Amino acid sequence: MNENLSFYSLYSKYKNLDFSTYFKKVNDDEIINSFNKRSLNPDNLLALLSVKAENYIETMAQKAKDLSLQHFGRAILLYTPLYLSNYCINECLYCGFNSKVKFKRKKLSLEEVEKEATFIAKTGLQHILILTGESEQITPLSYIKECIQLLKKYFTSISIEIFPLKTNEYKELVALGVDGLTIYQEVYDEKIYSQVHLKGPKKDYAHRLDTAQRAGDAKMRTINIGALLGLGDWRKEAFFMLLHAKYLQDLYPEIEISVSLPRLRPQVKNFKAISKVSDKNIVQIITAARIFLPRLGITLSTRENSSLRDNLLPLGITKISAGSTTAVGGHINSKEKDVQFEIADQRDVATIRRMLLAKGYQPVLKDWVGV
Ligand code: SF4
Repeated sequence: MNENLSFYSLYSKYKNLDFSTYFKKVNDDEIINSFNKRSLNPDNLLALLSVKAENYIETMAQKAKDLSLQHFGRAILLYTPLYLSNYCINECLYCGFNSKVKFKRKKLSLEEVEKEATFIAKTGLQHILILTGESEQITPLSYIKECIQLLKKYFTSISIEIFPLKTNEYKELVALGVDGLTIYQEVYDEKIYSQVHLKGPKKDYAHRLDTAQRAGDAKMRTINIGALLGLGDWRKEAFFMLLHAKYLQDLYPEIEISVSLPRLRPQVKNFKAISKVSDKNIVQIITAARIFLPRLGITLSTRENSSLRDNLLPLGITKISAGSTTAVGGHINSKEKDVQFEIADQRDVATIRRMLLAKGYQPVLKDWVGV
């Protein structure tokens, strides 16, 4: 990675902006102009995320629907997460796998990984996201690679959500057949970032921020970033997340860039959200995202309940999880109680497929065959 080139430079340009004063000054013309431009700049994005833009939410929704149809048709990709391990050396206050939380930690053996894979493959899913807590000691890259080799027998697309790697390590995984990376900054506001990440390598804000870029340099096929909604002020967080997505799209036009909108869910330590994010706010973020970046992938996980997920689909969602569990070994053992966070949409893959077909969407189980 070119050390001189980092999203941090662009982030620094805006990080001291007085967002609440700026948002108050946004006028109707600026919002309406943003709908009608072919290529939007950061000021247009701020206009779409402003308080005043809430008055235009119906217009924004219609525009977002039209752009989504134009760029993605009515296809929704399905995937499911597979948790390999919950060992973690970080202390992220909002997470059930935080190293301070006392419970019996677990790492799947290869035999157990195969059992989970067999179970998931029977549902017809071909896209899988493998996750671990962050512990290079317990789940080293060699273990991840063994799991990937095994999972390739069952799935055509394997994405990872594990500890941040170096560019050459991402290259090794790409060569092995990994085609997607999910890496959330969690919170772009540096002050809050340091308040909620107490210990461990994840405390290094800049290193995490550049992770997507290291994967881009390694030619990862898809990169999914995100902000955990409920930590920082959502308007500001959505702004930086989408600015980051645009930065990556511009830098790697050949890579499919997407964002996730995970909203804080209950977990074992009952960490309370620092900032509130309503369903209406989520609608504004999704519609602003689609208008700002019409080609952007938008992923919606089972953190949201079934009716909200179904209603958000037309606004620009391109990928959803199904038959999810956030427990290690949770696909085979649905009673496993040590979860990273509680999920709100418990529907299995068959039910989600039926719902999509009934709404006129094409559920896509496979759109990629890896090496
Ligand atoms: S969010 Fe990730 S890094 Fe942080 S405690 Fe949880 S599993 Fe570990």
